Amino acid sequence: MMQNSVQKIDTLHVLSDGPVTQYRNRANCFLLSSVPYTWGLKQITWNYSERAHGKGAPDGVGGAVKRMADNHVHGGKDLQNPKDLYEFLINREVENIRIKWIDESDINVFNEMLPPSVPKVPGLLKTHQILSFCPGEIYYRDLSCFCQYPEMCECFKPTKMRMDDSSNANSDHLQPDSIQKTYAESPSTDVEKNEEYTVGKFVIVSYDNKLFVGQITKLLLDNIEINCMVQHGKRNVFKWPNKPDCIFYHRQQIASVISEPEPNQRAAQLTKYDWLLFNEI
Ligand SMILES: [Zn+2]
Repeated sequence: MMQNSVQKIDTLHVLSDGPVTQYRNRANCFLLSSVPYTWGLKQITWNYSERAHGKGAPDGVGGAVKRMADNHVHGGKDLQNPKDLYEFLINREVENIRIKWIDESDINVFNEMLPPSVPKVPGLLKTHQILSFCPGEIYYRDLSCFCQYPEMCECFKPTKMRMDDSSNANSDHLQPDSIQKTYAESPSTDVEKNEEYTVGKFVIVSYDNKLFVGQITKLLLDNIEINCMVQHGKRNVFKWPNKPDCIFYHRQQIASVISEPEPNQRAAQLTKYDWLLFNEI
């Protein structure tokens, strides 16, 4: 679709929400500053709506689609899986909304385009706009601005970065102060504002500029007791300590709720997405 329609289009603006596991991560920074150029596009902007606001353009589209599906189901029909929903929607003429089916293999094509290492993008968690004007290069900033577009404006202090700089790629740790800054300036960071912490849930928690994986064992107002696992070096291998390591953390230290790690021999490993998240923050 994209390849066919880009002949007359030179700019791609993406509006989306900002889940770290999907769009707001360095892999996507790499892809958005490379792939669209191969389609003939000249400029790309990616704009992330703020969590739990529900007022962006994607929410409007999502809401319209959801209403149609709800009405259909209320009329006694079934929609049992994504394919049913897709078939239902493409048979409706919806003004200004195009429905596309994206197969897992379509996604894998892009996964395979990723180099073995992609540089970290410090501060990405609070970023709401990424812009690219030439292949391999991005600007990113806390809020979107188009006041001088297609010229780059200096509003909200954009940071420039090359995504194809492999010398940068092995910087596997964040600048020590950058996690601190993220948490200090943006208390909710990547936690859904209305996300419920409950006993038993697994989380990534930040302590002393390091990240840990643990399970919530107790809740006390804004303090959350977490039993942290021990990571095996830098690998995706986590074990429970011999003695539970339960410590109270402030809820602002929780970076994200994750799935229960999957058992792997005598240890456990994070799911693919959680591992990405763990390395992304
Ligand atoms: Zn501006």
